[in-house]
Amino acid sequence: VSPLSDRLLAMSESATIAMAKKGRELAAKGVDVINLSFGEPDFQTPQYIKDAAKKALDDGYTFYTPVPGIPELRQAICDKLKRDNQLDFQPSQIVVSTGAKQALANAVLSLVNPGDEVIVFSPYWVSYEEMVKLAGGVAVPLVGTREHDYKATAAQLEAAITPRTKLIMYSSPCNPTGAVFSREELGAIAEVLARHPQVYALADEIYEYINFVGEHVSLAQFPAVADRVITVNGFSKGYAMTGWRLGYLAARQDIATACDKMQGQITSGTCSITQRAGVAALAGGRASSDEMAAAYRRRRDLVLELVKDIPGLDTPTPSGAFYIFPEVSAFFGRTAPDGSTIRNSSDLALFILNDAHVSAVSGEAFGAPECMRFSTAAADEKLVEAFRRIKASLAKLA
Ligand code: PLP
Repeated sequence: VSPLSDRLLAMSESATIAMAKKGRELAAKGVDVINLSFGEPDFQTPQYIKDAAKKALDDGYTFYTPVPGIPELRQAICDKLKRDNQLDFQPSQIVVSTGAKQALANAVLSLVNPGDEVIVFSPYWVSYEEMVKLAGGVAVPLVGTREHDYKATAAQLEAAITPRTKLIMYSSPCNPTGAVFSREELGAIAEVLARHPQVYALADEIYEYINFVGEHVSLAQFPAVADRVITVNGFSKGYAMTGWRLGYLAARQDIATACDKMQGQITSGTCSITQRAGVAALAGGRASSDEMAAAYRRRRDLVLELVKDIPGLDTPTPSGAFYIFPEVSAFFGRTAPDGSTIRNSSDLALFILNDAHVSAVSGEAFGAPECMRFSTAAADEKLVEAFRRIKASLAKLA
């Protein structure tokens, strides 16, 4: 019998990590694989941030930090939330974590009881559903339609809330679709939540700085629900700091205190050097982030041009983040050159990996089995070559 817990056995492996692993295996055999499966900026962390980390190390800043983060960083995050999001928080309401991922997990584990329903706006980021399952909760996908850029509506939310609903979770800009909720849309969602005082919201704003439509709106800006919103953000995407592992949440004091307690028993404060780098990152403002966002926008436009030329990929225009999320169901039921049938998006992703040597992620893991996610965070030449190969491979499907 397996020694593994039911909890572990019920959990799926992260599909994005799994696809990246398959790509690396192929690359290790000498195949030239273009990796469009990972959600990772291909830019270097800006130099001024690296310099702050070097200084922290030279200063001997190598000891345990307070669990919820060093005071300078928590203050800098409050200043950022005020400056960018018009949100008023005290440093005691900020919990700095090992990536936004841990901030999300802290919140879910701190709020969700077994049997509680968590409404997850779908398509969703792969880890939301698994975190809810880990907490013993029931993830209830709320599926946005293509007509609404895959964004769930307030009316859909109203219909999905039950007495067991504890939490809603969404990302804006959205991974995987790149959709961005407008002020009007979030205001309508806030109105629904205002009528259901037992429901909390986890607003994942990690792609805030990669927004091509302009206005980033935080659900916490709506006074009627502000004290029930946990705002999550981080440094991985906006400052190209994925490997540093730095994220945070901002929440009502009792919730922040609970997340601090949770984190204190699991990982404690994140890396001391990373936190010093985070202080420098925020002090530097948005200039380097805006520069990277301009590049992501240019690449989005490039990729949209490239996919226009590929029959069968129906691709909405992303408003933010660095992915395209085309519908690929036109290929389901077709036959590959080896005689196998492409039954679904996972089969198609494997075919594309093996034939075009491009790794992408099946929409299944994001709650959208008719779609596939391609990262656009790669150099222009790589993107051009990747979609040239994908076009050639898809043309082989009969
Ligand atoms: N939330 C979303 C929507 C993401 O796409 C990611 C990373 O892919 C994260 C959270 C986690 O980010 P971090 O690297 O800060 O843990």
